[in-house]
Amino acid sequence: MIASVLIKKFGIDNELKTIAEKVIASERINEEEGLLLYEKAELSLLALLADHVREKKNGKHAYYIKNIHIEPTNICVYKCRFCSYSRKEGETGSWEMTIEEIIKVVKEALKKNISEIHIVGGVHPERDIYYYAELLNEVRGVAGKAHIKAFTAIELDYMFRKSVKTNREGFEILKEAGLNSIPGGGAEIFSEDIRKQICENKSTGNTWLEIHEAAHQCGIPSNATMLYGHIESYRHRIDHLERLRQLQDRTGMFNAFIPLKYRNKNNELSSLKEVSITEDLRNYALCRIYLDNIKHLKAYWPMIGKGTTQLSLSFGVDDIDGTIEDSTRIYSMAGVEEQNPVLATEEINKMIIDAKRVPAERDSLYNII
Ligand code: SF4
Repeated sequence: MIASVLIKKFGIDNELKTIAEKVIASERINEEEGLLLYEKAELSLLALLADHVREKKNGKHAYYIKNIHIEPTNICVYKCRFCSYSRKEGETGSWEMTIEEIIKVVKEALKKNISEIHIVGGVHPERDIYYYAELLNEVRGVAGKAHIKAFTAIELDYMFRKSVKTNREGFEILKEAGLNSIPGGGAEIFSEDIRKQICENKSTGNTWLEIHEAAHQCGIPSNATMLYGHIESYRHRIDHLERLRQLQDRTGMFNAFIPLKYRNKNNELSSLKEVSITEDLRNYALCRIYLDNIKHLKAYWPMIGKGTTQLSLSFGVDDIDGTIEDSTRIYSMAGVEEQNPVLATEEINKMIIDAKRVPAERDSLYNII
């Protein structure tokens, strides 16, 4: 019924019509079909299909969380060409927080009833798994029931190798110290060709996937990301989504997928133009349609701004992250609009209600608080 209305409304060709019918019938689309949607589908058709998928998975809810980001250091052994954030030891603009300083920040944030502490940073050359286990232990000691989501697969890969631990052994140590889940950063684009050009030397796409699979096998859920809008093609994006979809078929432990837009200030790829808001919205919709086995699609508002985030709720997004409390510098150093990202609960609620969704404050595992 809806499919036939669609077809009449859009006057779409037969190939797109078949894909639209599959999406409406909750059938999985393949890589070629995903590519065709990226290349040919009108924005309004993508919005309609993605919204259909979102509604089926999440009803009217749009989720958010009260959270804080801790970035212990921006000193990093790698030098990704898209990164505006990392520095070498001793370089102007580098920072290293001590565990005591981190605990002070956590204690302050807990007064605001946050339910999640998100910890990611640079890959510090001297810090091994025992340092991070101690950090987790100390945070766990003051955090009460707050969920600790910490360390990208890139940080984990380095600390495990530095301490000569297998992925499984490493996760057992961190879990024991208080780790609850891991974030999705560091995925960038899995294609090795593209990684060679934008983040040579850092952990491969396969390593990222292996780390997340090991986390899932240890009972640690995670998120996934994709850095888009730089030198990758639509085919690279589809390949990335396909590899995530296959892993999710095996483990089912990705909670959310978060597309991350390349921002072009203060990094080695600054000559690239940023993609348009229209492209951001196409991409959200495609991700929602393609990742039929990941329940939540998140728009990270400090990266794309509040306006685009609100729009994204009509393109498959059901989660707009959290209050953040001005605690992240990763994107402000890349020149985004939100230089001091903080959203009051009232403002989040209004953004969501104005987009005709129902605000739902959640915990890290999407239970409504
Ligand atoms: S993106 Fe991450 S791994 Fe790459 S240089 Fe920046 S902080 Fe280091």
